[in-house]
Amino acid sequence: MIPYGRQDITEEDISAVIDVLHSDFLTQGPVVPTFENLIANYCGAQYAVAVNSATSALHIACLSLELGPGDLLWTSPITFVASANCALYCNASVDFVDIDPNTYNISVDALEQKLIEAKINGSLPKILVAVHLCGQSCDMQEIQRLSAKYGFNVIEDASHAIGGRYQGQAIGDCRYSDITVFSFHPVKIITTGEGGALTTNDPMIYKKLILLRSHGVTRDSDLMMTQPDGDWYYQQVMLGFNYRMSEIHAALGVSQIARLDSCIFRRNQLAERYDHELSQLSIQLPYVHADSFSAYHLYIIRVPADIRKKLFDLLRKNDIGVNVHYIPVHTQPYYQRIFNFKQGDFPVSEKYYKEAISIPLFHKLSEDDQNKIIEIIRMVVT
Ligand SMILES: *Cc1c(COP(=O)(O)O)cnc(C)c1O
Repeated sequence: MIPYGRQDITEEDISAVIDVLHSDFLTQGPVVPTFENLIANYCGAQYAVAVNSATSALHIACLSLELGPGDLLWTSPITFVASANCALYCNASVDFVDIDPNTYNISVDALEQKLIEAKINGSLPKILVAVHLCGQSCDMQEIQRLSAKYGFNVIEDASHAIGGRYQGQAIGDCRYSDITVFSFHPVKIITTGEGGALTTNDPMIYKKLILLRSHGVTRDSDLMMTQPDGDWYYQQVMLGFNYRMSEIHAALGVSQIARLDSCIFRRNQLAERYDHELSQLSIQLPYVHADSFSAYHLYIIRVPADIRKKLFDLLRKNDIGVNVHYIPVHTQPYYQRIFNFKQGDFPVSEKYYKEAISIPLFHKLSEDDQNKIIEIIRMVVT
């Protein structure tokens, strides 16, 4: 089976993990801070916080921005459910903004229209989660302009996008947002097994994230409500979680991030090959905006809805692990039940969903395998 995405593990990665197993610390040692520094430096952000998944990262990102009951979080319907679930963990509500028909990221026009209406109705969001689908940044400059005008916070869900660029700068620099979140699940660009990270430039947010990651407990006397009793003393100052990343996971991340640029380069090369080989067919190929350099987590093609299933099934029958990203979140039974969303609420997303297929794209995809995939697509699409 050629999967749609796959991790790349080298002998150096394996020995980095083994080194930690021989060391004094399996958790709360020196490797997590090393990984965090590498992420912050790579992204050009002041601070990075490593956690055990992007889902945990989204949760504490929302909490650090004080999302709570009665608040609204908006995101794109075309994302993994975690981008929306984080609001529900905080007992807040979720609403969606339809996508741009070319980039499949949140549409800035739809966002502005919805904000104008929400201002009249008194239903403005507290947080917008901007999802950088496939590794291409949303139009962050415009999103930032709207966030200043309407007074909401912005979290970038860059689970697909580490290594990507926007206006020539690394995604994750938080130039236009409060917090950026990354995922290191094995199918993503680089992996720690399971894992995630947040970047921010705000020292207050950073302090809260550190507390929320580890039980709300601190050993820093500056953060305590009273003087410490002695050197043994710690204090719980808020309700946090155990969302820490282990040293074992971080060691894999430190080793992987060294290859990030070459990995993104290879993904872009393979994407260009698909672009070229599929260009004559009646397929909508990925569109990358001039402001963007995509990390190319996913290569998504759109075919007419009436042949999507046939193409999907034929590729699967030939051991090609295609997938669909994503089923619009507002059509999930859970979301329909608690928020009364209906088919037709976000028509651009729903049309997209009927036509999309993610075809394999990963660092070690061979050109032979890629040719095989292209050949099968040519059998169905003309
Ligand atoms: C993978 C993914 C997540 C969740 O990441 P985990 O690290 O598996 O928790 C969140 N949002 C998007 C867009 C994703 O693709």
